[in-house]
Amino acid sequence: MSKQIYVVEDNRKNMELFIAVLETLPDLKLFTATKGKEGLELIKSGNPDIIILDIQLPDINGTEICKELREIERFRTTPIIAVSSLAMKGDKEMIMEAGFDHYISKPIMIKDFREFIQNLLK
Ligand SMILES: [Mg+2]
Repeated sequence: MSKQIYVVEDNRKNMELFIAVLETLPDLKLFTATKGKEGLELIKSGNPDIIILDIQLPDINGTEICKELREIERFRTTPIIAVSSLAMKGDKEMIMEAGFDHYISKPIMIKDFREFIQNLLK
């Protein structure tokens, strides 16, 4: 059965990069949203194996999405990855406290990102 990855990212170039990389992985279904609320609804209505959330989004941010998902029983253990270019001291800690499993900083390193997702899918 194919795995499902959900990506919420408002930056077009980054989204294109995610899609380009993830499309090279076999048996994967990709679901995307560019806004926080839209992404949250998409995730809630779906069956994600991995969730990738940009932190800075136009409406609700990735940390809020993550917190809300973690309150729902079936999303308690779903891998949720934060992607952000926030670089202030304490930002990463604040993000991780929201319940993310991993943090990836922008710009995305294509090879590393691909390997990372591949390992998570195993
Ligand atoms: Mg953003």
